Amino acid sequence: MTLQSTLPKILIAEDELIVAENIARNLKQQGYEVVAIVDSGEAAIAEALRNQPDLVLMDIMLQGEIDGIQATATMNAQRLLPVIYMTAYADDATLERAKLTEPYGYLVKPFKPHDLKTSIEVALQKYQSDILIKRQYTAQLQDIEGRLGYLTALLDRDSRTDDPKLLSADDLALEADLWLAVERQEFFLVYQPRVALASGHITGAEALLRWHHPTKGCISPTQFIPVAEATGLIDPIGEWVLRTACTQLQRWQQNGLRDLTIAVNLSGYQLKQLHLYHQIRQILQQTGLAPESVELELTESTLIEDIDLASQQLQRLKEMGLRLAMDDFGTGYSCLSHLHRLPFDTLKLDRSFVHHIDQNPKNGAIATAIIAMCQQLALRVVAEGVETEAELAFLQRQACDEMQGFLFSQALSADDFEQLVQSDQRLLLAC
Ligand code: C2E
Ligand code: MG
Ligand code: MG
Repeated sequence: MTLQSTLPKILIAEDELIVAENIARNLKQQGYEVVAIVDSGEAAIAEALRNQPDLVLMDIMLQGEIDGIQATATMNAQRLLPVIYMTAYADDATLERAKLTEPYGYLVKPFKPHDLKTSIEVALQKYQSDILIKRQYTAQLQDIEGRLGYLTALLDRDSRTDDPKLLSADDLALEADLWLAVERQEFFLVYQPRVALASGHITGAEALLRWHHPTKGCISPTQFIPVAEATGLIDPIGEWVLRTACTQLQRWQQNGLRDLTIAVNLSGYQLKQLHLYHQIRQILQQTGLAPESVELELTESTLIEDIDLASQQLQRLKEMGLRLAMDDFGTGYSCLSHLHRLPFDTLKLDRSFVHHIDQNPKNGAIATAIIAMCQQLALRVVAEGVETEAELAFLQRQACDEMQGFLFSQALSADDFEQLVQSDQRLLLAC
């Protein structure tokens, strides 16, 4: 059934005309559309192809050369279509044959309108979930293909000795160590405060991932996130980040810190995973956090690869109540239609624009235009990487909503962030 359709279309294959018409009347009363009534297996196959029904009610014994079971098998070979068998009597051998076609239900004739309604509802529901599983399976296959592609590229890279740059031992070691890092609990989060420019108060924090490597020390996420994405390891790592950041916010709330938002970076790989929605819902349930207190940050490049899938996923996350931010705006495509089409709440102005915003007229003009546009679209603007008083003053004049940057604070440990909020430290505002 297509998602837009409100009237499921049903094909009836029944060779007793009175029975068929009776069923059709019942179906129409229950709000279904009957696309056709046929009396043979051959006609059922032809009508299924022509009318593309959402469900078929199939009598097992039909006129013509082929019976309902054979017709179902043929239709299934063409596309997955839910079929409910209707039968007055069938011997064990016939039922065994019918079972092999994996029908979505059986109705024993004569049946009541209520039984008909229930069987159809159950069948359509099961069909929807089968389609979803099929899509997930296809996505998983694509994912495996992607990883295989990555491994093939690695092998290919290993076999090429003419370009030592591509075969850095450090790179390979990083990949190997990454697999162990989750298990060895070498990751931790730091929290960079976000501050409202109207009041100078801390509004929340962005959770930033750190990897404390046993021998190499602290490794930057810009170095290992692309490797984690290519290997699919970003999935468990990303889940750990979400869970840890949400649990931390819950702890801060228990310690009396109210009205804070936690921002978590999401990679494009994570957004493509259909289980992301359930993962996040489970984390919210377990931590008891209000969804509005969690903001997911996505960069434009993560959306562009498959804008339709991204749009669907974002819509579902938005419906759950989460806040969404477009990260690093200005570095990628800076496509305004994405902002308009996708359900974002916040735009994060990339620090390359904020840098010397007061001195660089081009940066200043672009930032001013972006902030004005966001005000029109009712999007909050957060300026990233604010390092100087002059940059801050410029942003304030443009009525930018929030800032993040070394001028106020670097990313802190959870305890240090808590102390900062408890001490009611505010950003000193220039005007
Ligand atoms: P981002 O999300 O844009 O994060 C902001 C980055 O800017 C952080 O770098 C932060 O430390 C840095 N920064 C903040 N204020 C200033 C400033 O005033 N001056 C300068 N020069 N830099 C500042 P970091 O922590 O190295 O993160 C880099 C990027 O790695 C992040 O950019 C984000 O894209 C990615 N990342 C970090 N944590 C995660 C994560 O948990 N998951 C995913 N998928 N990506 C993450
Ligand atoms: Mg970010
Ligand atoms: Mg950013």
